[in-house]
Amino acid sequence: MFWRIKEAFARFMFGRNGFDRFTFWLAVAYLLLGVVRSIVWAITKSLVIEAVFALLLSALFVYIVFRILSKNVYARREEERKFLIWWAPVKNHLSVIFKNMTDKERKYMVCPHCKAIIRFPRKKGVHSASCPKCRGPLTVKI
Ligand SMILES: [Zn+2]
Repeated sequence: MFWRIKEAFARFMFGRNGFDRFTFWLAVAYLLLGVVRSIVWAITKSLVIEAVFALLLSALFVYIVFRILSKNVYARREEERKFLIWWAPVKNHLSVIFKNMTDKERKYMVCPHCKAIIRFPRKKGVHSASCPKCRGPLTVKI
């Protein structure tokens, strides 16, 4: 019985885009926006802002479902590729911010030349070094 449902689902999804990395981050954005919506509602109780959030979330939801079910896999792959090019440096910066908050032993930064994440021991002063990946000059103040 269960395998029949699974098979029918696989047949339905055949040739469709499915859940890719772009869709994953859209879903994360959807959840975060939902949290922001509740916080804003708790603070402002404004129906206008609530309506804007409802509209945004609905549009995002429709887009997520559209991407999963889309049969134009080529166009969806192209969107995903463009998103990942934009997202990679953003993700690096977010990761550095998170690591700097959690790791008290080391200081992290993004190389301005090649965007690699570089780690320094957390010793007070101005340090100069070269990036281990691209050999570009770096100065960091801790
Ligand atoms: Zn570098």
